[in-house]
Amino acid sequence: ELPEIASPTRTRAIMESYGLTFKKSLGQNFLTDINILNKIVAAADVTEADDVIEIGPGIGALTEQLAKRAHQVMALEIDDRLIPVLKDTLAPYDNVTIVHQDVLKADLKALIAQNFDGKHNLKIVANLPYYITTPIILHLLDTKIDFEKIVVMMQKEVADRLAATPGNKDYGSLTVAVQYEMDADIAFIVPKTVFIPQPKIDSAIIVLEKKDSQPYQPADEEFFKKMVKGIFLHRRKSLWNNLQGLYGKDPATKEKMQVALQKAGIEPGIRAEKLSIAQMVDLADALSAQKL
Ligand code: SAM
Repeated sequence: ELPEIASPTRTRAIMESYGLTFKKSLGQNFLTDINILNKIVAAADVTEADDVIEIGPGIGALTEQLAKRAHQVMALEIDDRLIPVLKDTLAPYDNVTIVHQDVLKADLKALIAQNFDGKHNLKIVANLPYYITTPIILHLLDTKIDFEKIVVMMQKEVADRLAATPGNKDYGSLTVAVQYEMDADIAFIVPKTVFIPQPKIDSAIIVLEKKDSQPYQPADEEFFKKMVKGIFLHRRKSLWNNLQGLYGKDPATKEKMQVALQKAGIEPGIRAEKLSIAQMVDLADALSAQKL
């Protein structure tokens, strides 16, 4: 029987036998530690009840561990050179589909309908390409697909932003965009040494889970989202200054903003990073009620 794909020896041997080099431009840092892979799969709690989407299977190290436990796995890989490799390395598993597509352009809803039976939980598990971590997370949220869990490895710095709490320096519009719908937790930190080639920065596994019931219900979701971006635009400025940047400085507008802030019970002099998401919803509702 073949050893796991995830070992330094087998990873090098596979790359060599296909005459492949790692493409830095595609974020190709492959995991070569079976213990880390097992911990990722455990954090995602993958079982026979799950259909799993993997983003960027590489040569299949994580895909193999997912295939051993999940009902079905669909893996989207952008690099055409890796498609024949994956066909070979994953040949022993009959529950894996490899899709040669860019995850940011793929129609995930259609792919899910084609490849999954709709009777299993839907999870995303991946070691993300770091050059597009944030676009991928925002894209996944944008699809409005009801993922049970998203468990992904990313640069620790971005993971810190996703899991940040109010008042923390990492708390910003990305935090709010994610935590508006999902609970975000860092499961564990991953050292650089378990990758080939080694990245320059530390990584972390983040677990995103849909909140039980949507706790935030702004009267106007578009208005709320624009306001959130706007109040974090100049992080060092006060909420009041950022609100003027968003809605204007004329006396009539200022008056309306003051009324709204008072109604929401928020001090104009504070910074946006101190506000909870619930306070931001209150503020957006008060501002939109003032017709701003
Ligand atoms: N899953 C493998 C592992 O853990 O060893 C490889 C992870 S590697 C960090 C990221 C993978 O994502 C690479 O295989 C890369 O080619 C692929 N990738 C990069 N951009 C992509 C995109 N836009 N869509 C799909 N896959 C992409």
